[in-house]
Amino acid sequence: MDELKKELFYQPKNGYDLVDAKECVAIEDYCRGYMDFLDNARTEREAVREAVALAEAAGFKALTDDAKGIAPGEKVYSVNRGKGLMLAVGGRRPMTDGCVIGAAHIDAPRLDLKQNPLYEDGELAYLRTHYYGGIKKYQWTAIPLELHGVVCLKNGETVNVVVGRDPEDPQLVITDLLPHLAQDQMAKNASKLIEGEKLCLLAGSVPYAGEGSDRVKLAVMSILNDKYGITEADFISAELEVVPAFDVRELGLDRSMIGGYGQDDRVCSYAELKAILELDEAPERTAVCILADKEEIGSDGVTGMQSQAFERFIGQLCGDPAAVQACFSHSFCVSADVTAALDPLYAEVSEKQNAARLNYGVGLCKFTGARGKSGASDASAEVVGRIRRICDDAGVLWQMCEMGKVDQGGGGTVAKFMASRDIDVIDAGVPVLSMHAPFETTAKLDCYMTYKCMKAVYTAG
Ligand code: MN
Ligand code: MN
Repeated sequence: MDELKKELFYQPKNGYDLVDAKECVAIEDYCRGYMDFLDNARTEREAVREAVALAEAAGFKALTDDAKGIAPGEKVYSVNRGKGLMLAVGGRRPMTDGCVIGAAHIDAPRLDLKQNPLYEDGELAYLRTHYYGGIKKYQWTAIPLELHGVVCLKNGETVNVVVGRDPEDPQLVITDLLPHLAQDQMAKNASKLIEGEKLCLLAGSVPYAGEGSDRVKLAVMSILNDKYGITEADFISAELEVVPAFDVRELGLDRSMIGGYGQDDRVCSYAELKAILELDEAPERTAVCILADKEEIGSDGVTGMQSQAFERFIGQLCGDPAAVQACFSHSFCVSADVTAALDPLYAEVSEKQNAARLNYGVGLCKFTGARGKSGASDASAEVVGRIRRICDDAGVLWQMCEMGKVDQGGGGTVAKFMASRDIDVIDAGVPVLSMHAPFETTAKLDCYMTYKCMKAVYTAG
């Protein structure tokens, strides 16, 4: 009976019962590189900068506006307004045979400074924020925060701002009420516990010497003016993102996990990037890697996955914009995005038989969406069959998974925006605990297997 069960049953196994010592070393090596990347890529702009540096070191060249096609083995990249990145390695077959695409996103939930953020109250200076993406607002209070971004001055010059990353830098915080006086607050629904308008950064407390109003605000503004040459009006044309100040760390007494901010979806972005950078000879079909912005707010916007910037890039690789649709229709895309891992502390939201587990490998999702699969592109059986075959042939540990119980909630990825382009697409990514929290948890083995999956997909052609 045991033999028959072995033959007939689908029995996923813990990855650590399947990898050998050599692969364990490869997992550690890979994750060190990932952790470095994650530490230095706290915004989409920084992710692009880091990725371009790695790409140039691997021999990739910026695609020029007059580019006409891509030669076999040629390695190119194109930056979309500093916030999105597309890379390609030319294949042996023509572009009209389709390409193999990996699509991930480099934006992450955060707090953006408002366009007129600075004010003073009770002789303290504050910066108002507007949150970006899906967050539990209460998680953003009483933790160390940093400020990253750009300020565009009236004269056209762009000033880069980073406050809090350097160990010598000060950091920022959003205060919360002490439990002693939180009787009314604690009785509130968690979504109302911290109101959006209370997500204001404490920015300073020392008044400018002299008499008059708004002296603390003035002191803070003069510090910013000294350091960055900006005035209050320059906030209007700024993109300043408030992100957690936590360092990326190994987690668990066994060091098997990684803790850090923005792993959704920089963990899959890095997996894709590393996989394409390592293609040292021309793959069968052109390999394309997209690191998109704006996924957390619907993939809209000129740097999001719905932007025609992607059509333009593919048109350049085809050497003929009219060939883009033919290329798409033969292409295959892995939408590399994280999925929810089964959390034993909150097992009630998952259906165990179909939930992703830590250390079971890259999580393949046939569909995302909510309720009756609403909003899902729902990969076909043929597409699932294809990736299953590719993974098995390459020794990639994978698991089939679904995010949460039916009717418990849901989510989406860029997959449907590739599907609407007539591209076969499936979701695959790293299972995450505490997704969208300021400090997210992944397992090293799953991070590595996602990279291995992407490499197998690119190599299979
Ligand atoms: Mn995501
Ligand atoms: Mn997300």
